[in-house]
Amino acid sequence: MAAISTTIMTFAKKGDHILSQNTLYGGTQTFLTNDCPNMGISHTSFDPAQPDTWEKLRTPTTRAIYVESISNPLIEVGDLKAVVEFARKHKLVSIIDNTFATPVNFRPAEIGFDIVVHSATKYLNGHSDIVGGVVAGSKEHVSKIRHLLIHLGGSMDPHTCFLLERGLKTLSLRVKEQNKNAMTLAKFLDSRSEVVAVNYCGLESNANHKFARELFSGFGGMLSFYLDPKLDIALFIDSLTIPLHAASLGGVETLVVRPTRSSHMGLTNEQREEKGITENLLRVSVGVESIDELVEDFTNALEKTASKQPSQVVA
Ligand SMILES: *Cc1c(COP(=O)(O)O)cnc(C)c1O
Repeated sequence: MAAISTTIMTFAKKGDHILSQNTLYGGTQTFLTNDCPNMGISHTSFDPAQPDTWEKLRTPTTRAIYVESISNPLIEVGDLKAVVEFARKHKLVSIIDNTFATPVNFRPAEIGFDIVVHSATKYLNGHSDIVGGVVAGSKEHVSKIRHLLIHLGGSMDPHTCFLLERGLKTLSLRVKEQNKNAMTLAKFLDSRSEVVAVNYCGLESNANHKFARELFSGFGGMLSFYLDPKLDIALFIDSLTIPLHAASLGGVETLVVRPTRSSHMGLTNEQREEKGITENLLRVSVGVESIDELVEDFTNALEKTASKQPSQVVA
């Protein structure tokens, strides 16, 4: 979050405006909504898949455009090339959070993004045992951010740097395995009658697949899916024996969370419903475990949950 907040504060000052994607990491969204107005920085949300709608949201004080390469928890991919074009045309700084995709699958600077930020807490480190962040960009841009960063104090301690550098050595191995595992798990879940729909940008049926296929060399380890709302989702989670029911993502172990009870708890019911973040949605950060064992574990949990037949919808 220091990487993100310091970057935003570097390129937007009092009186400035930012265009930001309509679904963002919760911390980024609340920083823009709750903290930026106190500094005189405003923002307007836009739909990253609808470039025709952006122009009317821009103001004379718009300085930056902020997106994520893959959004949480619906695993959406926007028209990222159009974001770069729009930013160039209007002289905006283009900023992208590439945490979910990782540099193994997507390198946004290659298509012209000015600034790439990452939560290194996730895939870059890969072992769920540090908190850290990264900002990448031209020397000119990064030196401005660094100047503010030093004053704000978002600096990494030496032991965390050591763990991050060690984790980075296996980034490519881990992510390639996670890409494969997530694709197999997504296809498996998509084939099950207990599952209503799967969100994974690697599935050809996915609405954003065309953007993902054009830009990414792999589709990542993050997916989410809607369990049949008649089934007891809490029982399903309890019945899984390999994945942990825990926050965060991007480590070697498979994690599951209910976005309504974690990352998106801060939104109102209406905001969640509008985005399709419902009680039966489960997000999975797919790890590097044996995919056969993972699929077997999900199969067992689905069958156990379906056999219970709850008499009412369980919230
Ligand atoms: C976790 C996360 C962040 C925030 O990172 P921290 O390391 O927890 O500060 C920002 N963006 C995305 C997409 C994330 O998943």
